Amino acid sequence: MTEKQSVAIIGAGIFGISLALALRDRNYKVSVFERNEYDKNEYSPETGAQAASVDLNKIFRASYGTELHYQRLAMESRKAWLTEDEKRMSSQTDDQNERKLFVNGGMLRVQPTHEIEAFEKETLENMERDGLRDTQFVLSDPKDQQRADSLRWKDKLLHFEIPQTSPAETYEAVLDSLAGFVRCSNACAHYQQVAAAKGVEFHFGQQGAVESLMKAQSTIETSKEKVTGLKTKDGVTHNADVVVVAAGSFSTQVLPILNSHLESSSGSLATFKIDPSDTKLWEKYSPEKFPVITWKSAPRDNAGKDTGIMYALPRTPEGYVKVGFRGIKFTNFQPAPEGTPFTQDGQWSVPLSSDESKSIPALAAEAIRHFVSIFLPEFKDCPFSSTKLCWYTDSLDNSFVIDYVPEYAEGSVFACTGGSGHGAKFLPVLGKHAADILENGDRSSSYMRPFWRWRPEAPRKNGLEEGPGGPRNISNCF
Ligand SMILES: Cc1cc2nc3c(=O)[nH]c(=O)nc-3n(C[C@H](O)[C@H](O)[C@H](O)COP(=O)(O)OP(=O)(O)OC[C@H]3O[C@@H](n4cnc5c(N)ncnc54)[C@H](O)[C@@H]3O)c2cc1C
Repeated sequence: MTEKQSVAIIGAGIFGISLALALRDRNYKVSVFERNEYDKNEYSPETGAQAASVDLNKIFRASYGTELHYQRLAMESRKAWLTEDEKRMSSQTDDQNERKLFVNGGMLRVQPTHEIEAFEKETLENMERDGLRDTQFVLSDPKDQQRADSLRWKDKLLHFEIPQTSPAETYEAVLDSLAGFVRCSNACAHYQQVAAAKGVEFHFGQQGAVESLMKAQSTIETSKEKVTGLKTKDGVTHNADVVVVAAGSFSTQVLPILNSHLESSSGSLATFKIDPSDTKLWEKYSPEKFPVITWKSAPRDNAGKDTGIMYALPRTPEGYVKVGFRGIKFTNFQPAPEGTPFTQDGQWSVPLSSDESKSIPALAAEAIRHFVSIFLPEFKDCPFSSTKLCWYTDSLDNSFVIDYVPEYAEGSVFACTGGSGHGAKFLPVLGKHAADILENGDRSSSYMRPFWRWRPEAPRKNGLEEGPGGPRNISNCF
């Protein structure tokens, strides 16, 4: 069968890999350009690669407040993770649990107080609406407790005391038995190999580092330029019918027009290391015993914003317990290059270098320490094993941006980015929806189409309205 168009994808993170696979399945000629040498290091987090997808683990959840479409996409993805793991396990003989890409160990959503708050109520209502309420267990509800017990989830329905309450009060919490985590780096390495085996061509390192896009005046849409391919760091040019920008938090630097829709900001991560000889801690924080914990340290604010989120994941097979703070997503505003189509006071927020991203602001470290003192008390006085700023690609409304970029002629540039801190869980299915949009545009049958389209009319919200003078600019926070 003759191949359809040629598509060059910039970035081999979750968005790039997932789309590459789905396009190949639709018989496109697909090449992926990636500046990190993932072929050699298998997406190892130890390399300090600047990519949100390169990480030990990320949370899998289907709880999305009123966003029923993401809840449904998460359920679609969950099914795909389970199927993929089943396939992988049947061909392996080593420790199966440690090799799973998706670990369905549950997630405890701890509330800001002893009561259920607004976002949680919306989530439970939508779970009910989709017939999933039985998968959720509310700590203070005796019926839910009983059900959790009969289904062997009760040990993860944990009680945490609210500090300085007398008589002592307990945080309300909801255990989500659909949730857990994905082994992010392992999943990328796996799906990259699947894509390569299907005929996706990969260019890594110097050969994959994209320096510029090749452009020409369109003869069809004469007022516009079209992109005809790209040039890599080794000086080689590569022609393509469609160039896809899937470069995560670097997408705006690859294609500056994206800066009108996206902003790079960072979450703060810290790890603790447990030695296997400490059998008590090793057991307690294992995925079998310890759920993912998320804590909203503050109720929804008067402007309707949910803030103050902290989380911890069970230990990895190597013994790392990861804790994250996303109460403040730090921006890094720098002067934007001349001619950048959208800037704020001539600046844009771009990721710090890999070295500069190895430390976190003091206020993030303090928030993590406070969280740890309540929820992982054994680590209260332990030094961090590592710290890292991990860079988000935030959109104006937290929904992804997966569509043609109308500023370029003839459908020559497609954006597949804007993960906004929740894209990892969708790896197995995101590309299928994105490929359908790439192939069919407005005729796409994907139910995500309306949410992911190019949306210049979207108001500047989600913190992207703040700009360099805003309170999150990291130079004001260290
Ligand atoms: C702190 C944090 C916590 C998160 N937690 C969760 C979670 O719990 N659950 C969840 O589902 N999601 C979570 N996410 C979101 C998820 O990690 C992202 O949505 C997803 O990883 C984004 O993938 P990506 O492919 O768009 O970007 P990336 O993973 O950043 O990949 C982009 C790739 O493009 C490459 N690249 C960039 N520029 C070039 C160039 N010029 N040439 C060649 N290659 C280039 C980079 O090297 C990189 O490999 C979190 C994100 C962050 C930052």
